[in-house]
Amino acid sequence: MAGALTLRVITPDRIVLDQTTHSIRVPATDGLMGILPRHAHMVAALDVGVLTYEKDGKEACLFVSGGFLEVRDGTVRVVSEAGELPEEIDTERAKAAEERARKRLHGPRAQVDVVRAELALRRAAYRLTAAGARR
Ligand code: ATP
Repeated sequence: MAGALTLRVITPDRIVLDQTTHSIRVPATDGLMGILPRHAHMVAALDVGVLTYEKDGKEACLFVSGGFLEVRDGTVRVVSEAGELPEEIDTERAKAAEERARKRLHGPRAQVDVVRAELALRRAAYRLTAAGARR
């Protein structure tokens, strides 16, 4: 395919990814968004989810957790609160976070911040998906 994109994923503590690719699919708050070379300039809000991109002819992915992305001059900059490559994801930690959130949501609601628990559940579920621990 003609043309290429640079994908940079940055979190508060590090550069998670700085990679050349030909296609990207991002979980924007409006839904999954596909980005190809020569995409128009754009800024969008990022949801929690799995970002996928082409790497050496195969699909690769990473977990992202909110923030925003900018597409400009062939570079896609993703600034997210958290970002982890599959091999960096601690699946036991994510399973424990998922279990904790489920217990909160299924137990007595009086003391529970439901929105917070639902967000924690989504982060854990997407981490497990990105890590390949769930399909
Ligand atoms: P937990 O309840 O386990 O802390 P969380 O969803 O509240 O999970 P975040 O607030 O999304 O955690 O992230 C806090 C920091 O911990 C970030 O730097 C993130 O990359 C890291 N992190 C969280 N969960 C995992 C995990 N399962 N594997 C690797 N890093 C993780």
